[in-house]
Amino acid sequence: MARIAYVDGRYLPIHAATVSVEDRGFQFADGIYEVVKRIGGRLIDADRHLARLRRSLAALRIDLPVSDAALHRIVRETISRNALADALVYLQVSRGTAPRNHPFPAGTRPSLVVTVRRLKLPTSAERRQGCGVITHPDERWARCDIKSTGLLANVLAKQAAQEAGCREAWLVASGPEGEVVTEGSSTNAWIVDEHSVLRTHPATQRILGGVTRSVVLEHAQELGIPLEERAFSLAELARAREAFLTSATSLVLPVTSVDGRPVANGMPGDTTRRLMDRYAAHCGLPAEVAAQG
Ligand code: PLP
Repeated sequence: MARIAYVDGRYLPIHAATVSVEDRGFQFADGIYEVVKRIGGRLIDADRHLARLRRSLAALRIDLPVSDAALHRIVRETISRNALADALVYLQVSRGTAPRNHPFPAGTRPSLVVTVRRLKLPTSAERRQGCGVITHPDERWARCDIKSTGLLANVLAKQAAQEAGCREAWLVASGPEGEVVTEGSSTNAWIVDEHSVLRTHPATQRILGGVTRSVVLEHAQELGIPLEERAFSLAELARAREAFLTSATSLVLPVTSVDGRPVANGMPGDTTRRLMDRYAAHCGLPAEVAAQG
């Protein structure tokens, strides 16, 4: 069965689901996107994803071309037409189609695309062993809080990670504290520092405020884990007791090596495992998918 995509009011087989060559998303990356997962018939943290979609659109002064209720209907219908139980839902809104010219075109209707695919979560081996990351210069623009489709620097960083046999690239930028990790190319970055404090970059314009990040921060508070939203340097990363990454599709995933060097003893740590378990439960994942010792 061909995958079905939603494009501006129509459900079409994926090969026929197209936008104009003058779509501003195609020509200028003048658009935003969201990625939401559906597990056990439930869109996980749908409200937070919708709120971020609205924030991204507001930052670019693009109107969502449908109501929230219609958007929910479209997402449900796209999932149902693809006969998927668990799914990764991709939504993209661009400023729409107009003759190429930089300023906003007048009277152009934004375009909405929704695609879904089978949800692929980290394997149990990855969850048990953790993954490797490389460090890579953060070469992105200054508004990383907007979930823009302009992802070239992220693409280059992820490609470098893949070529190094790693799952992710942790991006390094110069800040007042020296060289700090901002986030991953498509994930947020965390450590448990040498003082056993859970650390992640604050939700400034230098990072995308992950929905998973916001949920995991709440879980850490509930579990009484000492926590600081404060960037960590490469030196602090080298001394970290634990490290992990988060995203809607990676869940909470241990990071057990950085640039080929083990994090602490090279095994997922206790805090990471507690947060993995807590987040898996939040998603309604069966127990065997949760972290195992
Ligand atoms: N940071 C970046 C740059 C991302 O692209 C993503 C997800 O796509 C994340 C963080 C994690 O966000 P979320 O937890 O909402 O998936």
